[in-house]
Amino acid sequence: MAERKQLMKQSPQKVVKDAKPTEVEPKVLSDEQYRCTCCGHKYKKQETYFNRSKSPIYKGNNGFMSICQNCIAELYEQYIKFYNGDEDAAAERICQITDTYFSPEVWAVSRKISNSRNGKSRNRFSTYISKLNLNNQGTGTTYSDTLVRRWEADVSNAETTKEVEDNDDIETPVDVVRRFGTGFSAGDYDSLQYEYQNWVDRYGDPIDKRQEELYVSICYMKLNLQKLLQKGESSIGAASNSYKSQIEAATTEIEDRKKKAEAEKQLSPLGEMIRDIEEYCPAEYYKDKKLYVDFDHLREYIERFMTRPLRNLLTGSKELDKEFSLSDMEE
Ligand SMILES: [Zn+2]
Repeated sequence: MAERKQLMKQSPQKVVKDAKPTEVEPKVLSDEQYRCTCCGHKYKKQETYFNRSKSPIYKGNNGFMSICQNCIAELYEQYIKFYNGDEDAAAERICQITDTYFSPEVWAVSRKISNSRNGKSRNRFSTYISKLNLNNQGTGTTYSDTLVRRWEADVSNAETTKEVEDNDDIETPVDVVRRFGTGFSAGDYDSLQYEYQNWVDRYGDPIDKRQEELYVSICYMKLNLQKLLQKGESSIGAASNSYKSQIEAATTEIEDRKKKAEAEKQLSPLGEMIRDIEEYCPAEYYKDKKLYVDFDHLREYIERFMTRPLRNLLTGSKELDKEFSLSDMEE
């Protein structure tokens, strides 16, 4: 009884009303753990252990990927083996898995950087991610952007020549697309342009719109014919005939116009003279001089009345015209 009395002190203990104990503040703000969805390891924080991502699928994960950097490095190595040593394909596969944009340009730079540090291989994919996040202006963020870029790089998907002009990924020259119109595949443009160039090489650059259109339509017809042939279409006979007659008509017309143009030139002394200055002067250097005979004495005319006086004027020579002057001997 006496002991109990001792505990129930008569005089109350002094307390501070405002200093009642409250909740204890944790030493760290969060004791949450971040489990890697691949290896299952729990990390205390996401920074430095997980790569940042701009994909909406990681938004609720504070914008971090759910696979840790170690696992990504490991997966990358595994995929190199899977793709038979192709590191680019492995990197792209990691981009697919983590919904990351695959930029061949940024990847090429990252590969160089990760190669050059003490010969030791670093986490290449993490290097890639940080590079990608640094220069991410105008480029993509998620793997969907990779797919968009690929779609747009295919020239057959371009709806206007402007799109072709503005897209550096498209290899088909914009003039070729302008010449044949949009909608063809890169391979078709190659065939069309090859054929067109062949006509230019044999029959010269088109002198007007009509000749250009002739070349172009022959190119279309040939491409069409090739496609019918590949497909084994029965209508190939008709297509082949119209192609043949188109070529005959075109070549006849082009030849006729050439002849006509030649004849017109012959009638015009000035045109003839200009052509001769352009074409015959270098004839001195050709081996076969007979090809460039001075059939209408124009070259002689130029020598006598243009080149010689000019030579006299520039060099101060006293050279006289061979016909209208008498040499000392004859005097
Ligand atoms: Zn992991």
